[in-house]
Amino acid sequence: MTFAQLGLAAPLLQALDTLGYQEPTPVQAQAIPAVLAGRDLMAAAQTGTGKTAGFALPLLQRLSERDEAVASNSIRALVLVPTRELAEQVMASFRQYGEHLAVSSYAAYGGVSINPQMMRLRRGVDILVATPGRLIDLFTKNAVKLRQVQTLVLDEADRMLDLGFADDLDILFQALPKKRQTLLFSATFSDDIRSMAKARLRDPLSIEVSPRNTAAKTVKQWVVPCDKKRKTDLFLFMRKDRGWGQVLVFVKTKKGCDELIGRLQAKRIAADTIHGDRPQASRLKALEAFKAGEIEILVATDVAARGLDIDGLPQVVNFDLPLVAEDYIHRIGRTGRAGASGEAISLVCADEAPLLGAIETLLKTSLSRDEEPGFEPTHRVPPTGPHAAPPKPKKPKVAAGRSGRGVPGNWEGFDDFPAKPGGRRGPHGSGHSGPGTRSSAGNGRKARGR
Ligand code: AMP
Repeated sequence: MTFAQLGLAAPLLQALDTLGYQEPTPVQAQAIPAVLAGRDLMAAAQTGTGKTAGFALPLLQRLSERDEAVASNSIRALVLVPTRELAEQVMASFRQYGEHLAVSSYAAYGGVSINPQMMRLRRGVDILVATPGRLIDLFTKNAVKLRQVQTLVLDEADRMLDLGFADDLDILFQALPKKRQTLLFSATFSDDIRSMAKARLRDPLSIEVSPRNTAAKTVKQWVVPCDKKRKTDLFLFMRKDRGWGQVLVFVKTKKGCDELIGRLQAKRIAADTIHGDRPQASRLKALEAFKAGEIEILVATDVAARGLDIDGLPQVVNFDLPLVAEDYIHRIGRTGRAGASGEAISLVCADEAPLLGAIETLLKTSLSRDEEPGFEPTHRVPPTGPHAAPPKPKKPKVAAGRSGRGVPGNWEGFDDFPAKPGGRRGPHGSGHSGPGTRSSAGNGRKARGR
């Protein structure tokens, strides 16, 4: 199967040739003809499967074929993504693939000034890649009109719901033309995603390139039980002992990120972090340095790391387990890409047994445990897995958050959060509210770690 056989036009084939893509990936082979034919799509595909080109290539072609000028402050296609990094990455893909076409693209996301975005949108943009929160702000300010949208792409839809964007998506669905093409991509398919698809998609073609809720088979995964206090020492030991090269390390909180990075830098190990508190520019800089091989260890939280496109990464270390089981699949999707093998190692302490249990239930398998001699835990990690008796869940610690209404103390924050708490956009204000603080639209964003 070639890209030409899928019906792609010469300018796109030329760009693919330059990029060295020789043949379509399975998701591309299925998605491209369907999107070109104007069908709705519901695709279960993780990052690393080539899903971005699966929607970007046919979208570019459809827009270039339709001889229609974009009106000022208007857009012809909207791609919604959960995070800033992914917005940048998806826009970069559109620009690469559309190099020989006159189709414009732009990315708009929170955490940076809205004014340049408003200025750019005045001229109209063919393809807007945006995070939901910032898009609603732009929409409320009349900087973007959605009437001309022909195609809506929901990229990493599961992650958008996890991050509490369900209400924002509902607002946007109301504002979008009913007659449109909708493409939904998600790594996992929870019941919430399925009901959203049922309500918003028209006779979609279902594509599943990896079995539902499973991790890439090329990734070797195991758990190293240990005591919480010894995690850093264990990590440093394993890194040296196993001769790890570049490692992507996931931690639960921003504080955890900073603590680990402090220890690494004290040992003169080239390391950097990406988390929600860091300005966008430093996050991108850290990511670029990691991709360029200038830093050995990148420590990240889930929110910041979503959608990172890093090829050929042999090691992912879960320094802390994620609070949401599905995030485990997203995390380890950073390794073992495009058929390469990889390792995902989770350092798990006794407190994390319920999280481990939830992950194993999702994976429908127990992860093997391999204690590291010299680091055997004094607090045993209780048995877990789909067949173990469910461990008693611990009551979550609740801190008075932004709203004083029970935001978890380790809350990582949305990408589009404002610096200060305050009124919600729309009739009651233009800022963003924290989880559980929604003022005007009722229910509040759904907190992570449901
Ligand atoms: P994605 O799943 O969209 O994040 O893509 C993962 C990586 O695969 C990106 O670096 C793409 O540039 C690359 N890629 C996508 N499609 C192909 C292809 N057909 N051949 C080779 N590389 C590809």
